[in-house]
Amino acid sequence: MNVDDAQVRISELRKKISELSEAYYTKDAPLVEDSEYDLLYRELENLEKEFPELVTKDSPTQKVGGEVLSEFSKVTHEIPMLSMGDVFSFEELEEFDQRTQKNIGKKTDYNVELKIDGLALSLIYENGELIQGSTRGDGTTGEDVTANIMTITDIPKQLTEPLNIEVRGECYMPKLSFKKLNDKRQLEGQAVFANPRNAAAGSLRQLDSNITRSRNLSTFIYTLVDAQKFGVTTQSQAIGYLNKLGFHTNPSSTTINDINEIEDYIQKYQEQRDNLDYGIDGIVLKVNNLNLQQELGNTVKVPRWEIAYKFPPEQSETKILDIEWTMGRTGVLTPTAVMEPVLLAGTTVSRATLHNAEMIKDKDIRIGDFVLLHKAGDIIPEVSKVLKNKRPKNLPETSIPINCPYCDSKLVHLEDEVALRCINPMCPAQIKEGLTHFASRNAMNIDGLGPRIVEQLFSKEMIKDVAGLYKLTFEDLLKLDGFKEKSINNLLTAIRNSKENSLERLLYGLGIRHVGAKAAKLLAEEFINMDNIINASKEEISKINTIGETIADSLQTYFSNLEAQELIKELKEANVNMTYLNSTLNLDNNEHFNGKTVVITGTLEKYKRKELSDQLDSLGAKVTGSVTKNTDILIAGLKAGSKLTKAQSLNIDIIDEDTLDSYLSDSKSAD
Ligand code: NAD
Repeated sequence: MNVDDAQVRISELRKKISELSEAYYTKDAPLVEDSEYDLLYRELENLEKEFPELVTKDSPTQKVGGEVLSEFSKVTHEIPMLSMGDVFSFEELEEFDQRTQKNIGKKTDYNVELKIDGLALSLIYENGELIQGSTRGDGTTGEDVTANIMTITDIPKQLTEPLNIEVRGECYMPKLSFKKLNDKRQLEGQAVFANPRNAAAGSLRQLDSNITRSRNLSTFIYTLVDAQKFGVTTQSQAIGYLNKLGFHTNPSSTTINDINEIEDYIQKYQEQRDNLDYGIDGIVLKVNNLNLQQELGNTVKVPRWEIAYKFPPEQSETKILDIEWTMGRTGVLTPTAVMEPVLLAGTTVSRATLHNAEMIKDKDIRIGDFVLLHKAGDIIPEVSKVLKNKRPKNLPETSIPINCPYCDSKLVHLEDEVALRCINPMCPAQIKEGLTHFASRNAMNIDGLGPRIVEQLFSKEMIKDVAGLYKLTFEDLLKLDGFKEKSINNLLTAIRNSKENSLERLLYGLGIRHVGAKAAKLLAEEFINMDNIINASKEEISKINTIGETIADSLQTYFSNLEAQELIKELKEANVNMTYLNSTLNLDNNEHFNGKTVVITGTLEKYKRKELSDQLDSLGAKVTGSVTKNTDILIAGLKAGSKLTKAQSLNIDIIDEDTLDSYLSDSKSAD
């Protein structure tokens, strides 16, 4: 390539990389996969190495990515917060080691850590008290996010010693919180976050710290600025000292004396990656001795004494068999790709959410396409890209519904929403979903009233809304398939008992937008009865701790609706309790298993069948012996046989023991 051609390509690359960086760092909404970005960045770096005369100060290779949003006060980093060089092979790590040895004139030991998939954070303490938290920003100027930092529980607000220090580390969102947040955003019609890093960044850079609080962020602190002042001489010692001061440090940090030892470390964490409850995208190698770090110094963008080894993306190829559109209780229509089952990062995957119509259009996903799948945040199966070279000829574009597939009313995009939404309050699909939610364990807890029975009650026109439940008679239920005297009496008793529930269950069960189980409980505790909530002003509602204006607005919109008023009236006439009795809502139900029918098969290494079955039972699951179309989850151990095959053919969620571990460790409610 001659210099003129290089100049043209360099300009193209800089423009493209700047656009991608703006979307990624400023809007927390990447337009392409990281691996695609990394390829472009590498190409630019290589061209600039070949033609150093073309390097300019404003090239993305010469500055730390990220900008400061004008909504935040600015913070100047006295010692810049830099980016990090990265490599993608063991050979490149060896080259880094040789370069380092050459620069310092001797062999060195290294500290090795996991590269946490989050965003960098600086924390400043005066006399041991936390006084400021900021983001990296452009490296020299960051955003002041002190109020938000204060809501992160694992950040000590007071140190064990009265020190003046600055520490730095990674703020991240645990995988299950990431999944929960994306599920919630999807239900509410909002754009989902592409990965935990963007989700953490979007959650920390909020003007309302209540939102940050609700996002369950965590930290791993790995840098003590000016550590030598405290008698600390190596990175490994720094980690120990930070831990002693009360910071959350990552247990994987270790020292190696020879670069060859790193291969085992990489392999170990590549294998364990799926089991960790936070995302990692590689490992970080740091010269251990802090004096040597200083001697090596930095380039304009990265320290010369550390390097990241990035894991290759875990991907699997499969074929799209169908695209299904399902209706949620809030009217959001969500597309799901149904695929040929394939093993992906430890689990068999046959369905992947496509989130919204935009994603189908952007990635041009069609039924019959071959695609690459990855797990966003190591947890949510997603289509990375379509293998267009494998596309059969004349494959038609996916048609995006214009009308609701369930009630035929016109679909809309509400303001600032990416989702397609059906706004017909009488849409049967929404009402059915709403009824299943009303009966669910954290809501009215009507045992035995699952989606299958709700479907029958609707198709036989026995009910049209939740109030109808309380008018059902023995004779009505006799008309349902498979119902006998005992099951009818059980269901009628469960419905009758639900009338005595405390107010928060009813409030949550109504499915009012943004009112989750926790908010419902706070509202019930504060206002004691339904009428007080209906009559409360927006100010009175939004002044309750953690309940913001969004929830207050949503409540007022709901209760001003004539149909909602009629529903409350009917529920009152049916003698459904509308008063707060006490806290009966168990917020510890496990969202993965609550209300689900689960089958266990194969050999489990860590669990005894009976004990696991009891544990699942206590978390709200129903454990059964055979796989049928009503099974929600199959837990498959080693040597799983026919049940696994059957579950695959029925597209049932199949989880392995590692996923089971992570699901069981998440025992908070789906609020
Ligand atoms: P980086 O994220 O690759 O590495 C530097 C950061 O690593 C540090 O700032 C720190 O926050 C973090 N880190 C995590 N664990 C650490 C540890 N143990 N020790 C030290 N630091 C640790 O660099 P960057 O400049 O922030 O971002 C570049 C990356 O962002 C690229 O590799 C790319 O994949 C991604 N990106 C993607 C897009 C896209 O469009 N998809 C756009 C821009 C950037």
